[in-house]
Amino acid sequence: MIYYSSTRGGEKDVTASKAILQGLACDGGLFMPDRIPAFDFALKDMCGKTYQETAYEVMKLYLTDYTEEELHGCINAAYDSKFDTEDIAPITYADGAYYLELYHGATIAFKDMALSILPHLMTVAAKKNNVTDRIIILTATSGDTGKAAMAGFADVPGTGIIVFFPKGGVSHIQQLQMTTQKGGNVTAAAIHGNFDDAQTGVKKIFGDKEFAEELSRKGVRLSSANSINIGRLVPQIVYYVYSYIRLLESGKIGDGEKINICVPTGNFGNILAAYMAKQMGLPVDKLLCASNDNRVLYDFFLTGKYDKNREFILTDSPSMDILVSSNLERLIYLSCGSDSGENARLMSELSGTGSYEITGEMKEYMKDIIGGYADQERVHKKIRDLYDKTGYVIDTHTGVAAAVHEDYRKASGDDTVTVIASTASPYKFSAAVVGSIKGQMPGGDDFEIIEELSRLSNTSVPSAVSELKTAPVRHKAECDKEDMKDTVRKAIDWIS
Ligand SMILES: *Cc1c(COP(=O)(O)O)cnc(C)c1O
Repeated sequence: MIYYSSTRGGEKDVTASKAILQGLACDGGLFMPDRIPAFDFALKDMCGKTYQETAYEVMKLYLTDYTEEELHGCINAAYDSKFDTEDIAPITYADGAYYLELYHGATIAFKDMALSILPHLMTVAAKKNNVTDRIIILTATSGDTGKAAMAGFADVPGTGIIVFFPKGGVSHIQQLQMTTQKGGNVTAAAIHGNFDDAQTGVKKIFGDKEFAEELSRKGVRLSSANSINIGRLVPQIVYYVYSYIRLLESGKIGDGEKINICVPTGNFGNILAAYMAKQMGLPVDKLLCASNDNRVLYDFFLTGKYDKNREFILTDSPSMDILVSSNLERLIYLSCGSDSGENARLMSELSGTGSYEITGEMKEYMKDIIGGYADQERVHKKIRDLYDKTGYVIDTHTGVAAAVHEDYRKASGDDTVTVIASTASPYKFSAAVVGSIKGQMPGGDDFEIIEELSRLSNTSVPSAVSELKTAPVRHKAECDKEDMKDTVRKAIDWIS
């Protein structure tokens, strides 16, 4: 059995299903497994296995209180025809790197990989722990996560989801994605305020004990689906293992050959999953942690000092515009020998002063993680160069990783086979991508630009985008930031 403990020491010996239900530990820490399990299979014996089969072999090592049947049920419900390819996460080679495309799910971005299975892991967890309340997910979003969570939870029995987004603070396409989402148990509301207001409002509701009791009388319990839940982390380990198996199977690498993995990073969840795959026994040499202009992680891996006291820069890779990478706490915890006291001390320094510094020993522990960054101009050039050379089109987030990889390779001479996590479809960021390829921002409305991208890339527009043009708007609620609680009340009645 594997049990989970808080990175800050306040909770111990929690089962996987409880940790998934709870999300965050009571002391504000993140749940970590007491040990990182090793593979109990040989990678070469996995050749020919499907994504779903691979997912089972990896996830069963972490979710030890789920039965075989329960886990298969979750996996099969998640990785089905919601994805537009049977491969689930296909790999494309282009100009010296293998792009692991994590964007073939319902919202054409990598959050689908975990958010399509989390609702099923949660409802099973509720049953196992005799929770009969209906689970309502409450989320504030700056755009992407909200839609991915809505799509994941749509029509999953025993759940519901309410998303708050800042009115005018998300792109037109992102707003349409949310407001047209189908499902009897989902809704979204625009708040009059910015993302921080939405986030603060949601946190307030989570901390409101009286409200929790009121909801409990109605048989409802609130939960969150954010990226610190181990129910999101564990499914993300799967595709790194899967990519290795695919490369092995097709003779691109030999058995046991080490690869590098490069990940465009924001909250540090995706790259942490790659790191855990390495700790489990995946032959990985270097992990390249790619940042955009918000290069707080680059500076951290260079100097050992984390410092969020800096200007926040808005870029066209918005999912990486982050100054506090919450999942980094898990790496800090591992690097100090799972010393929860030491980790808690550093985290309280972070919340107090906005910075902390790790010891030389901890820095040594992280030596296989190399920080890199690419500014916006560099990213645009990389997208254009790759297109000119190969015709392959990548989005702005993946562009950050591709630029960092190219620069690293030139500087280091390290020619190790590299997998780049491709985290969004270029159709999700059409204007910036078309602008990069053509060297100037395109005119026209969103859908005209999307058509242009289709012509340039010689690919068809994913249905997740094309159907937005005609999909009816289902969620029209708006509210002031002071009225979010009341909106939640009404929404709960509406989605029941
Ligand atoms: C969320 C996201 C990222 C960042 O992933 P983290 O796990 O937060 O580091 C990168 N690219 C895209 C497109 C994303 O949606």
